[in-house]
Amino acid sequence: MNPKLLKTQWQDLPEQAIRQLQAEKLRHYLRNVALPFSAHYREVFRRHGLAADSIRSLEDLQRVPFSSKADLLNTPEHPQRVRDFVLIPDPGVLAHRPSTLLRALCQGRERVKDGFEAEYRPIFMTSTTGRSADPIPFLFTRHDLNNLELAGKRLFEICGAHREMRLMNLFPYAPHLAFWQTHYGGAAFGVFTASTGGGKVMGTEGNLRLIGKIRPEVLIGMPTFIYHVLQQAVEQELRLEHLRRIVLGGEKVPDGMRRKLAHLASELGAREMDIVATYGFTEAKMAWGECPGAGDESPGSYHLYPDLGLFEVIDPKTGEALPPGHAGELVFTPLDARGTVVLRYRTGDFIDGGLVYEPCPRCGRKTPRPVGHISRSSGVKEMRLDKIKGTLVDFNQLEHVLDDAAHIGAWQLELRKRNDDPLEVDELVLHVHKLDGIREDKLVRDLNNRFVAKTEIHPNRIVFHDADEMRELQGVGVQLKEQKIVDNRKLSGADRVPQPPAAAASGCASESIEVAV
Ligand SMILES: [Zn+2]
Repeated sequence: MNPKLLKTQWQDLPEQAIRQLQAEKLRHYLRNVALPFSAHYREVFRRHGLAADSIRSLEDLQRVPFSSKADLLNTPEHPQRVRDFVLIPDPGVLAHRPSTLLRALCQGRERVKDGFEAEYRPIFMTSTTGRSADPIPFLFTRHDLNNLELAGKRLFEICGAHREMRLMNLFPYAPHLAFWQTHYGGAAFGVFTASTGGGKVMGTEGNLRLIGKIRPEVLIGMPTFIYHVLQQAVEQELRLEHLRRIVLGGEKVPDGMRRKLAHLASELGAREMDIVATYGFTEAKMAWGECPGAGDESPGSYHLYPDLGLFEVIDPKTGEALPPGHAGELVFTPLDARGTVVLRYRTGDFIDGGLVYEPCPRCGRKTPRPVGHISRSSGVKEMRLDKIKGTLVDFNQLEHVLDDAAHIGAWQLELRKRNDDPLEVDELVLHVHKLDGIREDKLVRDLNNRFVAKTEIHPNRIVFHDADEMRELQGVGVQLKEQKIVDNRKLSGADRVPQPPAAAASGCASESIEVAV
C-alpha cells in the first residue's frame, strides 16, 4: 500500500489500512529518526534487546516500555534529563545515508544542509504548566512547526471553521500548546484569528471590548475564562448574536460546563450554537478536536491524525493494551516528530468510550477516535488526590460535582486550616456564585448532599459571592489560569494577602492544590 495515503487520505481510511500504514511508518520512524538520534530511546532499546525492526506491527509496539512524566523530571544525578529526549542528529550518520548522497547530487549540498537544519534544529518551544514540578520544555524544529500548522489546520476543519469566519483566541499568552496551536492553526487554515492573550493580558473587559468590535463567530479558549467573559457580557446586557461556536481547550470540559456556556450564549442572543472540545497535551505537540454535534447528544469524540501519531488504550493497572472500544488510559506515540520526542507516553488520561475506528456518526470521517469523557487515570501517580480532614479526596470528581450542579455559576474550593493555625484541622470552604432565585438554605442543602454522595465529605462552610467577587477570587485577569481549587493550608495568617471584603479568603496568593499531590 502506498504509505503516502496515510497523509493524503487521513480522514478516509478503514481501520485495517490505518493500522498497517501506521506500523510501516512507525518502523521507518524508529529506524531512521528516533533510535539513531535519541540518547534516551537508543539506551532503552539496547537495554531491552530491541531494534527498530523488532516492531513490525502495532502489537509489537507493546514490547517498548512506557514513558511517563516521571521519566522527564530532572533528578540530582540527571539535572538535564529532558535533553536526552531531544533528537540530536549525528552529521556523520546523515552524510553517509544513500538518500542524502542522492539528494546532494540532484539538489546540491547547500539545499541538503538547509533541509537538515529545518528538520533538526530546535527553534521554538512550548512547555508543561509545571503543576507538579518544574515546567518541562518541549522543543520544536521547523519540521515540527509544519506539523503543528498541519494539525491546527485539520483541527479547524474538524471543528467546522470556514474561511469567512472571524475567530478570537482567548487562550492565555504563554509557551502553552493551546495558545500556539490556535495561532498556527488559524494562520494555516487561512481564517481571521485575533489572539487576545486571555484575561491576564487584556483583562475580561478588554476581551469584551474586542469581541464587541470584531464580532467573532467563534471563541476559542479555556472553559473557565470563557465562562467569566460570557457571564460579564450578560451582566453588561451585551448582545453576541454573531456567536456560532465555542471551542474549548486547555482543561477538561465537564458536561455541566457545556450546559452553562450554552445557556449564557443563548442569553446573549446567540442561536444555533455549537460547543466543541479539543484534546491535546504538551508531549504530543499537537491537539485534536471534536466535530460540531448540532444538538446531537451522543458522546463527543476527538478526530485523530493517523499520519502524525498513534494512540493505544491500555489498562492503567496492568499496562496491557486493550482492544478498540474499551475504556482505558490513552498512550501516545508520535510518528513524525523531531525536537523533543517521547514514545509510548502514558498521558494519565482515561477515556471512557475507548478508541474506535468506525465512521463518526456526526460527520462521517473515518479517523481513529477516542470517544466519550476524558478524566485523569487512577493508575497514574500524578492524580489529583489529597487528604482533607483525613479522608482521601479525588479532586477530579469534586470538579465534576460542582461543574454539573444546577443553580451555581463560578465556584472555588478553598482548603485552609481552622483559624489559620497550621496545627489545627483542615477546613473546606466552598465559594460559589448563586445563579438564580433559589433560596440559599436550599442550595446549601443540595450542594452538601451532592458532596456527601460523591466524596463522603462536605464543606465546612459555603460562602456566596456575586460574579465580581468570584472573578477576584479566581484571579481572572491576574492569574494565567483561573483558580478553581486552592490550598491555603500552608499559609500562616501573616502570609495571607489582604482579603477582599466579602470573601472568606483570597485565592490569589495560594498554590493550586495540584502542586501538593
Ligand atoms: Zn465527526
